[in-house]
Amino acid sequence: MKIAVLPGDGIGTEIVAEAVKVLNTLDLKFEMETALVGGAAYDAYGHPLPEATLKLAMASDAVLFGAVGDWKYDTLDRPLRPEQAILGLRKNMGLFANFRPAICYEQLVGASSLKPELISGLDILIIRELTGDIYFGQPRGRRIATDGHFPGAEEAFDTMRYSKPEIERIAHVAFQAARKRKAAGSEGRVTSVDKANVLETFQFWKDVVTEVGKAYPDIALDHMYVDNAAMQLVKEPKRFDVVVTGNMFGDILSDEASMLTGSIGMLPSASLNTKSQGLYEPSHGSAPDIAGKGVANPLATILSAAMMLRFSLNQGEAAERIEAAVQKVLAQGLRTGDIWSEGTTKVGTLEMGDAVVKALD
Ligand code: NAD
Repeated sequence: MKIAVLPGDGIGTEIVAEAVKVLNTLDLKFEMETALVGGAAYDAYGHPLPEATLKLAMASDAVLFGAVGDWKYDTLDRPLRPEQAILGLRKNMGLFANFRPAICYEQLVGASSLKPELISGLDILIIRELTGDIYFGQPRGRRIATDGHFPGAEEAFDTMRYSKPEIERIAHVAFQAARKRKAAGSEGRVTSVDKANVLETFQFWKDVVTEVGKAYPDIALDHMYVDNAAMQLVKEPKRFDVVVTGNMFGDILSDEASMLTGSIGMLPSASLNTKSQGLYEPSHGSAPDIAGKGVANPLATILSAAMMLRFSLNQGEAAERIEAAVQKVLAQGLRTGDIWSEGTTKVGTLEMGDAVVKALD
């Protein structure tokens, strides 16, 4: 089992170190190799995704990724910015399916800005298509400046497109995920989010998803316009089970869903290709405002490592052990600053990692 460890920038190095510590505590044999990515790689090699890092990622079963980015790189030409490293990894590894679970841990119900009864017991899964849609459509508005701006231009445009195979494969992923969740007690429902009332691409999306759904008679399928979905996510989030949508709508809705649970520091994510090779990262960014202070919450990254064990390394039992250990430290009242509340014990990044390691025993 080969894991490429790419900590990246900001809090990335601190939180990935804790996830690696947790992985090393398991009785499993991993080959882990670390490489630079993002701003750190730009500083060292002049590129956010050096050839050696990409090669390592492609040759591994899974990538454990921290986060990239810092304000100091904002003036760089767009292709050299740290965030380009993620796009490059997604594209080269063919990572088309992004899984973002939004789970509300009972101990953290109070951390959400929504009423406890709306989110208590919340367990939904957003599946975002990651390699198509308007982010990759051709043609795109003519770039006349490498810094990403258009001085003097009168218009700019991007093209939304999806092919039938692209929609079919993400729809299958969603129905299969709903089936697995149903076996574990969930409702067994896929909600496909579109904008079929306005966009041709999404009428096509809706038709293809409906067709694929016929192969899954045990799973309920409904369709929802994206504006309604954005509203329902804050009005009645528990009405969802699995949500499947395109790249742009998924980008927005998955961030919205992640905040339902109160802290972005708690939410893992997985991006998979057809060979179950995957990139696993927390849903949050590099948090330059708290980097180097030892206060970042490492749990999203530790939970991403658990997803990695389950989806790419076929170690479901080990994944469950980690998830149970996280529950246990929360039950013990340990909290990093982002999830701290009166009556709980504030700990730093390192202590939180140590507590998870201890809880594994
Ligand atoms: P962010 O997610 O880094 O931070 C938003 C807020 O959440 C900050 O106040 C931060 O302190 C807090 N936060 C985030 N993770 C936390 C954690 N684990 N524990 C405690 N608090 C946490 O988003 P941002 O500030 O908009 O972006 C910062 C940088 O990260 C930018 O350069 C952006 O481009 C980059 N970014 C990278 C990724 C990625 O690597 N996948 C994703 C999003 C943003």
